[in-house]
Amino acid sequence: MDNKPTELPLVLLLFGGTGDLAKRKLYPSLFNLFKKGYLQKHFAVIGTARHPLDDEKFQEVVRQSIAKNGTEGQVKEFAAHFRYSSHDVTDLKDYGKLKNMLAKLDKEFDAGGNRIFYMSVAPRFFGQIAQAIKSEGLMSDTGYNRLMVEKPFGTSYKTAEELQNQLESGFSDDQIFRIDHYLGKEMVQNIPAVRFGNPILDATWNKNYIKNVQVTLAEQLGVEERAGYYNTAGALLDMIQNHAFQIVGWLAMEKPSSFSDTDIRAAKNTVFSKLKMYDEREVVANFVRGQYGRGREVWQKSYTEEPNVPADSKNDTYVAGRLQFENDRWTGVPFYIRTGKRLAAKQTRVDIVYKKSSFDFGKFNQDKLSEPVLSILIDPVGGINFSLNGKNVTTEFETRSDLLKWSISDQDKVKTPDPYERMLHDAMNGDGSNFADWNGVSISWKFVDQIAKVWAEDKAPLEIYESATMGSVASDRLLAETGDRWIYRG
Ligand code: NAD
Repeated sequence: MDNKPTELPLVLLLFGGTGDLAKRKLYPSLFNLFKKGYLQKHFAVIGTARHPLDDEKFQEVVRQSIAKNGTEGQVKEFAAHFRYSSHDVTDLKDYGKLKNMLAKLDKEFDAGGNRIFYMSVAPRFFGQIAQAIKSEGLMSDTGYNRLMVEKPFGTSYKTAEELQNQLESGFSDDQIFRIDHYLGKEMVQNIPAVRFGNPILDATWNKNYIKNVQVTLAEQLGVEERAGYYNTAGALLDMIQNHAFQIVGWLAMEKPSSFSDTDIRAAKNTVFSKLKMYDEREVVANFVRGQYGRGREVWQKSYTEEPNVPADSKNDTYVAGRLQFENDRWTGVPFYIRTGKRLAAKQTRVDIVYKKSSFDFGKFNQDKLSEPVLSILIDPVGGINFSLNGKNVTTEFETRSDLLKWSISDQDKVKTPDPYERMLHDAMNGDGSNFADWNGVSISWKFVDQIAKVWAEDKAPLEIYESATMGSVASDRLLAETGDRWIYRG
C-alpha cells in the first residue's frame, strides 16, 4: 500500500513543451501524479516552445497525450492547469514574459513559490537556459528552485564540465537534477533494497564472497531512425558513460550512513574515486568494441548498410569492458559491463557471481558445485533469480545447481510507475537519490574519454559480429582471461 500522498504545490516551467518527450512521457507522468493526489489544486505548468500556440490549443496537446489514461473529467481538470508561452530559448527578451507568468500563476494557484525548471530541449541549449533563468530573475525567493536536466550531459569530459559550469552559475549542485532514466527504473531501485535490506547479502557484498559482477544492457533493435545521432555517439556514449555507470554506482558503492540523497551520493562518490583509470594499453586490454554485421535473416542488414550510416563507419554498436575498483571492498573483483545493438535478445540485468564453495563433498561430487549467482532482472521483465547449490535427487550424495525465481507480478507491473513519474515526484520532493551526481558523471566521462580516444585513433580492433548473436566474441575472451564467463547468453 502506497503512503497517503501529500500535495506538492509548484509551478513547473517546461522548455520544449511541444516536444516528443513532453507528449510521450512528461504529461502522462504528471497526470499520474495528479490522479494519485501528489498534484491537486496548487500546481501549474507553463509549456514553452517556438511555435505560436494559445493556451487552449496547448491544453488540447496535453489532453491528447493523456486522453487514454483517465476519465474525461480528470483530463479536463488536469489540462486546465496548463498555460503556454511562445518562446525562443536563445532570445533573452523572451524570458521577461516567463518571469511575469511565473509570478502570476504562483499567485493564482497558490503554489508556494516552488519552481521546477525542466529543460526538455536539445542539449546545446541547456547551459544558456540555466544562465538566463538566473540572469533574467525567473527564480523565486519564497520557495524552492530546481532544475531538471535531460540527457545527454555533455559529449566528453570537457563539454560536460563546460555545461556544469554554466549550470552552476545559476544553481547549486543540490538544485540540479540530472536525469538518467535508468535510475528511475523499478528494478534498478530494487538494487539497494535487495542489498541493504538483507544482512546475508549485505555482509557478503565484497571481494571475500563475490567473484565478479556483470551488467548487461542488451538491445535487440538496430540503429533504426537514429543514425544521425548514433553514428556520432556509439554505444560507448549512448549507454556506457551514463546508464551502465549509474547501475555500477548502486552495485559498487559503500554502504551509505543513511538512506538520504546526500549520504547515498557520498557513498557512490567514495567508490567512484577508487575506479582504476586506464592508459592506452589498459584500454586495449580491458575493453572491446564491435559493430553489427548482417544476420541470417534478409532484413538483418549490417550497421554500415543502414540508412544514413557512412559505408566506412567504424562506430561501435557493441562495447564490453572490465572496470576495477581499488579499495578494500573490491580489489581483484572485476565489474564487467556490456551493451550492444542487434543482439540476440533485449535484456537489461545484473548478475552477481559468487565464489564457489571449496567444501569437499566426496568422490561423487567432483566438479558438481557451481558458482552461486544472484541475478537482478531489470528489463523487459523485472525479477530476481538466485541460483544455489542443493542436493541432486540421487542415491549417492551429489549436488546440483537449482534456481530460485521471482518475477514482478502482473498486478505490480500495472502499478509500476514510469521512470519519469518517479523522477518528477523525487524532484518535487527535493530527493536527489535517483539522479546522476556531478562527481560520478565527471569520473565516468574521464574514464570513457580515454576509451573514445584510443578508438578514434583506431588503436584497437573493431570486431564485426553477426546480428542476433550476443555480440563480439572478443568479450568472451576478455572474461575467460580471468576464468570468468558471461552468465547471460541470450
Ligand atoms: P523534440 O525535438 O521532439 O522537442 C524539442 C522541443 O524543443 C520542441 O518543443 C521544440 O519546439 C522546442 N525548441 C526547439 N528549439 C527551440 C528554441 N530555440 N526555443 C524554444 N524551444 C525550442 O525533442 P525531444 O525528443 O522531446 O527531446 C527533448 C530532450 O529530451 C532532449 O534533450 C533529448 O535528448 C531528451 N530525451 C528525449 C527522449 C525521447 O524519448 N524523446 C528520451 C531521452 C531523452
